[in-house]
Amino acid sequence: MREYPIPADIPAALADLGIQTLRLVGEEATGKCPMHVERTGKEDRHPSWSCNTETGVFNCFSCRYTGPFVQLVVDVLGGSWDDAVIWVRQRGGIERVNQILGRGKYLKELVEEASVPLITEADLALYTTPPRHARIERGLTEEACAHYGVLWDSTRDMWITPIRDRSGKLLGWQEKNKRHFRNCPDSIEKSKYLFGFHKFRGGVAVLVESPLDCLRLLSVGVENAVSSYGVAVSDWQMQLLFEYADLVVLALDNDSAGWKSAQQLKLRYRGMGRRLAFYNYGQSTAKDPGAQSGKEIRFGVDHRLSPLRVRFPS
Ligand SMILES: [Zn+2]
Repeated sequence: MREYPIPADIPAALADLGIQTLRLVGEEATGKCPMHVERTGKEDRHPSWSCNTETGVFNCFSCRYTGPFVQLVVDVLGGSWDDAVIWVRQRGGIERVNQILGRGKYLKELVEEASVPLITEADLALYTTPPRHARIERGLTEEACAHYGVLWDSTRDMWITPIRDRSGKLLGWQEKNKRHFRNCPDSIEKSKYLFGFHKFRGGVAVLVESPLDCLRLLSVGVENAVSSYGVAVSDWQMQLLFEYADLVVLALDNDSAGWKSAQQLKLRYRGMGRRLAFYNYGQSTAKDPGAQSGKEIRFGVDHRLSPLRVRFPS
């Protein structure tokens, strides 16, 4: 059986491997992906790679280079798995391994993950482009559906919104109609993805709660909308946006949950100054941008409010 020890001091071990840590936030050491050139033929221009300093599990969200710490040692130093285990043990890791394996998380999951069949594009083959009546009900153009790759399940009358990573790789989808909502697979961690981000081309990003609202915005001429898959916007999602967008316009729902979340994000990210703004609902009582007219939506984005000026009902 393979062993998965972890060094006692992961940032120090990364330095020993010649991997520079550019940022240490919480348990995540971020840097440039050490295997990016080998895997993609290109340098990792943005620091896309991070390593968890508790578990040693690493991940490149651009090229998907991921694994347990021993794998990193194998790839960087070029020896065998057993050599890498010895290298890690020399850095005092054994006890922490037992601790973490005892807690039964991360590494066990990671090993199990490798045996789960992957989702492929063929899984979407049963679905069609959304029919006219469904598009009209929500005010969506054919072009907007095609742009975001949203599909339709004609046997159950449901929207199918694919969940993709930054590079466009399919990870799952959501099924949705008025009576039914489901994530497939249901274990998918939505907080690690932004709907529509693989289509983002820089500039102003508009963040909405629901994927279909991205389509509504594009249908009335507002490009670059992404969705957080709900009212809870993760730090990971915000950081990804700030890294790539010049300005992030938060357009969460116009209801108490949306106001509360927006207020929290305002306090947490007010340091971003002019790179953060809030959608302007004006006098509108619509529950979200998806329920507004094209004119109202363009007003909401064009007349966005700075963190200093925005006020949320309490
Ligand atoms: Zn990479």
